[in-house]
Amino acid sequence: MELSCQFCRIVNGETSTKFLHEDNNLVVFKDIHPQAPVHLLIVSKKHIRSINDLEDDDREIVAEIIMAAKLMAQRHGISKSGYRLFFNVERGGGQVIFHLHLHLIGGW
Ligand code: AMP
Ligand code: ZN
Repeated sequence: MELSCQFCRIVNGETSTKFLHEDNNLVVFKDIHPQAPVHLLIVSKKHIRSINDLEDDDREIVAEIIMAAKLMAQRHGISKSGYRLFFNVERGGGQVIFHLHLHLIGGW
């Protein structure tokens, strides 16, 4: 938990953000500025700055994030039509919030 981190505050339940799904190592909520009809963020509960900061012990978290993406796509009915998954990494990669999250977009 980083006191100054927006996503740590959300994960900790300190905001009004509604979780669509929660698992051992992650929560899922809607992106506040959606880029597509469906735009979800799959966010680790652990504060990890970016993909660059993953450690061997974080493998389970990464696997859970990908499996949650598959489940969320199914639940939103976009598995067949298709969707995009992406991690922005550091400023040059477009990362703005430095707490690990996977974007799921689709439903066009
Ligand atoms: P990134 O550029 O990968 O760091 O993406 C951060 C994403 O978080 C952006 O798409 C923002 O729209 C989204 N975002 C920022 N603050 C919130 C919030 N409080 N609730 C939901 N999504 C947020
Ligand atoms: Zn954080």
